Amino acid sequence: MFVIGAECSRCGEVFSSENILTVCPDCGGALLFKYDLTRVAEKISKSDLENRENTFWKFKELLPLSSPSSIVSLGEPYTPLIHYSEGNSSVSNVFLKDDGRLPTGTFKARGMAVAVSNLKELNINRVALPSAGNAAAALAAYGAKAKMDAYVFMPKDAPESNVKECVFMGARVYLVDGLINDAADIMKKFEEAYGWLNVSTNKQPYRFEGYKAMAFETSEQFHWDFPDNIIFPTGGGEGVIGLWKGFKDLIELGWIEKIPRLIIVQSSGCAPLVKAYNNGETEVKEAWENAETVAAGLRVGRPYASYLVLRAVRETKGMAVAVDDADILSSMKRFLQNGVYACPEASATLAALNKLKSDGAIDKDESVLLYLTGNAMKNFDFMKIEKNKIPALTKDADFLPQC
Ligand SMILES: *Cc1c(COP(=O)(O)O)cnc(C)c1O
Ligand SMILES: [Zn+2]
Repeated sequence: MFVIGAECSRCGEVFSSENILTVCPDCGGALLFKYDLTRVAEKISKSDLENRENTFWKFKELLPLSSPSSIVSLGEPYTPLIHYSEGNSSVSNVFLKDDGRLPTGTFKARGMAVAVSNLKELNINRVALPSAGNAAAALAAYGAKAKMDAYVFMPKDAPESNVKECVFMGARVYLVDGLINDAADIMKKFEEAYGWLNVSTNKQPYRFEGYKAMAFETSEQFHWDFPDNIIFPTGGGEGVIGLWKGFKDLIELGWIEKIPRLIIVQSSGCAPLVKAYNNGETEVKEAWENAETVAAGLRVGRPYASYLVLRAVRETKGMAVAVDDADILSSMKRFLQNGVYACPEASATLAALNKLKSDGAIDKDESVLLYLTGNAMKNFDFMKIEKNKIPALTKDADFLPQC
């Protein structure tokens, strides 16, 4: 184990990783694990890593687990890094990282695989969280594998596919009349009485550790020479905080030279981080009102630890950009037309790229990684088609209409 402890990202207090950790008991700040990276760099090299099996568990020295035997796995592959091309138009230097291939079809598997493994090691058997959908699904899946009881609280208008997957994977599901923050409030009310551990976004240090591997894995795939920019769809912000933390580890290990610009994208129907960034604020002070977007994972009105997301964006000279739902949906269609099977949250990255290029904020030849956080599978319900325009055939058809 190379973990030194978990440090509060607000007040700096350090806590032992042998304790069950949530947020800083003194100031409520998010806790981040610290490692003895000098020792890690002495023990392993980039080429040692390249010789290990391609799964994010290969970065075991940079995980808080005390033994690899604690790993709860559903088979986490290295996800593909793809060069993006669009018909014959001139996109160059655009890459996609497709985390839609992970268990339950989203990058949430990364955080939850590590959190569930770690909590199992700490003898936790009951876990709960409020979720817009995909975090709940990942918790349900890893909870099922680990034989833990999982309680999930979702807004009652969460995508039906998310509700179904959680129910069928055996989680205890509650639908809350309100948004994710309301779901969080209700959950909190019962937390003590039911004795479950709260694995909410940003309110425990474990999930960030799984997300760090996005930086490790992708850097390795790029032969440790990362593109200038990453565009990342951001709701609660845990993903981008984990990604940033991963890059900082890589710098400290001496394995990469620069951190790419972290560009976060939100929907203009719920863009509290973009608003705070544009106003020069250091955190989101008020919840976004009437939060509404087709990208359910981005519908977080007041992210916990927003100060860390804004710090990540500013420290890397990144940007924060909001795109309209109409552009998210047309980008999703454009992706599909080019064989890319991405969910609305992930498709927001393409909408953001086009916007930033047309505003001149990204040059035509700058290299960009679009981080695809999930696949399209769960999201076809709201993609409208006119079925009566698709030719129907009888069994004895002898010609093809519209052909
Ligand atoms: C949760 C989610 C996001 C946003 O991640 P955060 O860590 O909450 O910022 C993006 N895309 C998908 C598909 C998600 O499920
Ligand atoms: Zn603190």
